[in-house]
Amino acid sequence: DFALPYTEEQEKFRGEVRTWLEENIPEEMKEPVDQAHFTEEQYWFWREKHKEMAVLGWLYPTYPKEYGGGGLTGDHEAIIDEEFKRAGAVRGFSSTMVFPTIMVWGTEEQKQKYLRPLLTGEKVTWQKLTEPKGGADLADYQSRAVRDGDDWILNGSNVFIGGYEDAEMMVGPLLTDPDAPRHRNLGYFVIDIPSAGLDVKEMNLLGGARKRAIFMDNVRVSGDHLIGGETQGWQVLGTHLEFEHGGGGRAFPREISNTDP
Ligand SMILES: Cc1cc2nc3c(=O)[nH]c(=O)nc-3n(C[C@H](O)[C@H](O)[C@H](O)COP(=O)(O)OP(=O)(O)OC[C@H]3O[C@@H](n4cnc5c(N)ncnc54)[C@H](O)[C@@H]3O)c2cc1C
Repeated sequence: DFALPYTEEQEKFRGEVRTWLEENIPEEMKEPVDQAHFTEEQYWFWREKHKEMAVLGWLYPTYPKEYGGGGLTGDHEAIIDEEFKRAGAVRGFSSTMVFPTIMVWGTEEQKQKYLRPLLTGEKVTWQKLTEPKGGADLADYQSRAVRDGDDWILNGSNVFIGGYEDAEMMVGPLLTDPDAPRHRNLGYFVIDIPSAGLDVKEMNLLGGARKRAIFMDNVRVSGDHLIGGETQGWQVLGTHLEFEHGGGGRAFPREISNTDP
């Protein structure tokens, strides 16, 4: 028997989550079957709700409280996921791969500055990876970051960024040292949206997905926007991509893990 029963205490927690969702989520705000059908009103309803959920510890349950997470266990997250799915509730809009990356590579100040507002639902982040010349070979990055005193000046472009959600920041690599060997020539940067010189254009795909094309024309960011060393970006990306390919850094609801072959 491979059933994974929940404890009495966990079922009590489930009851709390279910009751809160029943009392707080109107029918018309539930997640559309196709996320391309999200309305502005629904989107901003959820953005506000996410802040309330973060206070309860349910937005990003397993992240440490000191950075705005819930400080709960994977079992709690599994229950939250099951109940949110049941209620048609949306849990977070950010590219969650960014969180563990900042946890692993960010300084204490960077965790407070960039991770906390994401985990508390104040901000949403996109991942900014793919360039127009092609995205499959991510190490062959051409968008440039050039040092200017303590700041960096960013130039280049990206395609296929983001989703139906709007964002206040994006995170990804830029070429910091064109003379250095491959995998030793990138930095991993946070870029605020909006920023002077940053153009974010709609890029709607034929399949219905909402994406953005990004153009950076001398975007100036302060030195603390670089996560990790200035030629360590590929290694930092290793953490990011490990989570992207490993389930987005979330615990799985048991109903999924139970039916997984
Ligand atoms: C719906 C959607 C959502 C996306 N969301 C995001 C996002 O949020 N953020 C983001 O940064 N990107 C996003 N992307 C981009 C995605 O990551 C890229 O599509 C992916 O990295 C592949 O890049 P590409 O499409 O440019 O293909 P290319 O790199 O141009 O490759 C084209 C073809 O050539 C092949 N190929 C490439 N290199 C080689 C090689 N060396 N040898 C042999 N064959 C090769 C590929 O396998 C492919 O068949 C999204 C894309 C889609 C369609």
